[in-house]
Amino acid sequence: MYIYPDASAVVRDLSPDEPVILNRPHAAARAARFFAEKFPGKSLYAVKANPSPDLLRVLWDSGITHYDVASIAEVRLVRSVLPEAVLCFMHPVKTSSAIAEAYRVHGVRTFSLDSHEELDKIVAATSDETGEPAADLRLCVRLRVSSEFAELSLASKFGIDLADAAPLLQATRQVADWLGVCFHVGSQAMTPFAYVQALERVRAAIADASVVIDMVDVGGGFPSIYPGMEPPPLEDYFDIIHRHFYALPIAYNAELWCEPGRALCAEYNSLIVRVEKRRGAELFINDGAYGALYDAAHVGWRFPVRCLSDERDEVEENFSFYGPTCDDADFMEGPFALPVDIGAGDYVEIGMLGAYGAAMRTAFNGFGQGASVDVADEPMASLYRGDRPVLTSDNVVSLR
Ligand SMILES: *Cc1c(COP(=O)(O)O)cnc(C)c1O
Repeated sequence: MYIYPDASAVVRDLSPDEPVILNRPHAAARAARFFAEKFPGKSLYAVKANPSPDLLRVLWDSGITHYDVASIAEVRLVRSVLPEAVLCFMHPVKTSSAIAEAYRVHGVRTFSLDSHEELDKIVAATSDETGEPAADLRLCVRLRVSSEFAELSLASKFGIDLADAAPLLQATRQVADWLGVCFHVGSQAMTPFAYVQALERVRAAIADASVVIDMVDVGGGFPSIYPGMEPPPLEDYFDIIHRHFYALPIAYNAELWCEPGRALCAEYNSLIVRVEKRRGAELFINDGAYGALYDAAHVGWRFPVRCLSDERDEVEENFSFYGPTCDDADFMEGPFALPVDIGAGDYVEIGMLGAYGAAMRTAFNGFGQGASVDVADEPMASLYRGDRPVLTSDNVVSLR
């Protein structure tokens, strides 16, 4: 496959009518090696953040051996791409048929749950023909924790309340060969303190239940870097998690896991869009809410942007974007800083779209068919390069 030097070279070569996804395998590999080497435990890739088979192979080649899958389609996908990967089915609400297929056909042994009903379902779906329960289940009880330090909450949907956790941990211990506790602090956790608070809840749950715990999984939530969102170094997160993990009342050989999605893949993709029309400070571009820019539209996420036309003014002003569909919701407020004289026909690169961006594209309204190519240059920002670039935009994040 041809590797372009950068987005401008892609535009020169293809003058694309459709948006183009740019892949940066080197950036994903660097993130994977960082977690594989520096996280003081095992790092599972949360596949939903970006299920691209090419990306899965890059992560595997860079030391990520375990994958957090949430649906039977993700189980089948990762198994087909990475036959030797360890798959962990970490969605706490699964169908019986998905559990059975994952266990019997794809070798999945690790499942998460947050209710007695789900525990019963897992036991039933993995028992043998005589009704004998499986002896090799590795089960993780998901605790509900606060999302107050994260930009996107995952707190209200899943996880058992601390007050109800002890009986579930005890019941799970009865049937599990190996028992874990997991949680998710919410996505883009802007301070390591999010994990401290959650681990305190884990401590209370374990103390209440008095069961032997073989694994603690601190979930995802590790941040990436966006305009207005500059997190502390990931090493700070790892250090704090490690210290609080060690202080837990758990088996001496207990394992520490994490499930990064965003942090492993945010830098993997950017997107080339074309301005089709300008109306004052609004640019009509050819991708949007139903494409790779879901978060820009629906949660006001700010992504870094740069104009790919050399001859435009260096002075910038703030723009908002309209996507291509015939729908007012296809609007991205930004602000996105671009040259004051930008106009129809200009191309723009939108960065940091590897997590929950490239994966979100739909074919709604006939859009979303664009190509994807590899590029060799650096992502617009990186948590892994050692030199934290200062993002050029002076705008303050406007998350709702
Ligand atoms: C989405 C998800 C993740 C990944 O979260 P990020 O914030 O992208 O790191 C990890 N674990 C579970 C259970 C998830 O649902």
